[in-house]
Amino acid sequence: MSTRSSFAERASQLREIINEYNYQYYVLDNPSVPDAEYDRLINELKSLEAQYPELKTPDSPTQKVGGAPLPSFEQVVHEVPMLSLDNAFDEASLFAFEKRLSDRLKDNAVLQFSCEPKLDGLAVSILYESGQLVRAATRGDGQVGENITQNVRTIANVPLSLRGKGWPERLEVRGEVFMPKAGFEKLNESQKQNGAKVFANPRNAAAGSLRQLDSRITAKRPLMFYAYSLGLVTPASFTLPANHSERLEQLATWGIPLCPQVDTAEGAKGCMAYYEKILAARVSLPYDIDGVVFKVDEIDKQQRLGFVARAPRWAIAQKFPAQEEMTRLLEVEFQV
Ligand code: NAD
Repeated sequence: MSTRSSFAERASQLREIINEYNYQYYVLDNPSVPDAEYDRLINELKSLEAQYPELKTPDSPTQKVGGAPLPSFEQVVHEVPMLSLDNAFDEASLFAFEKRLSDRLKDNAVLQFSCEPKLDGLAVSILYESGQLVRAATRGDGQVGENITQNVRTIANVPLSLRGKGWPERLEVRGEVFMPKAGFEKLNESQKQNGAKVFANPRNAAAGSLRQLDSRITAKRPLMFYAYSLGLVTPASFTLPANHSERLEQLATWGIPLCPQVDTAEGAKGCMAYYEKILAARVSLPYDIDGVVFKVDEIDKQQRLGFVARAPRWAIAQKFPAQEEMTRLLEVEFQV
């Protein structure tokens, strides 16, 4: 067999395995392998596709976001698609990211970044009309998500009406729903006592709690929400601040909760210092994170940079080294 055809075979095998893992993770909220193992496989597929572009199929998991919505929920079409993030796993790829941005912008000025913890929960879109929460949805496959309005309404720190005034007629707030570590430990303790399913990790518990058909169950789960971006804003003539970080602050004035660790930094060097700071604080933070996210702060530059298939060019997630995830998955397997 030629090397090329064995690569083709490996790519097809990887697509099949990853699609199965995606289904278990995104649709069933029941991961069967640790994230680090998943990341290793997806990176192998990405590098095969980079080396042999003819192996890249339009339905490759490297080109897609998340998983299809469950049919038991009403579907919500995202007017502005909800994308994923590209990943960097080391310092060199962060500097390469900065260089790509400067080259594409044809501008050598040091870039300002918004720096945010990468909360390990699930992405949610919350729509406010005339200041009232009217709809909430999961990301789903990025184009179509699940209507989880009743469940999101039960999350204690999600405002049902915006504070103050001056908000746009329609405002879509995007962010992460997650389960703080303390709540997760408590929930698993009581699940164990009741002989119920023990969750593998806080992300898994958050996803299982949010995608409940009975919102009374969700209401009992210790979920929280932090916003990290805006989706649809109408009318189009509505004036928002020119920087992403200022837009987040604007959301805060309307009563939308933000992650307290959000900051800004100058260039990849500043981002690296933020990464080190958050990595050192990781164990003491009240919520699980799997990395940090850096976003070009100037919206005008974001717009000039645009998107690729599944992620914006102007943002990157720098992942942390894998934690004791495998141990946790195994522990859970033995408990249930
Ligand atoms: P991602 O989790 O790597 O990044 C995108 C997501 O980050 C967003 O959708 C959002 O939910 C989240 N996020 C958190 N904080 C954010 C912030 N401040 N700004 C923007 N987004 C923020 O991408 P993904 O496509 O959701 O999932 C891929 C990851 O999920 C993999 O790297 C892997 O670790 C994990 N995964 C694991 C399995 C498994 O079987 N174990 C399967 C599929 C995916």
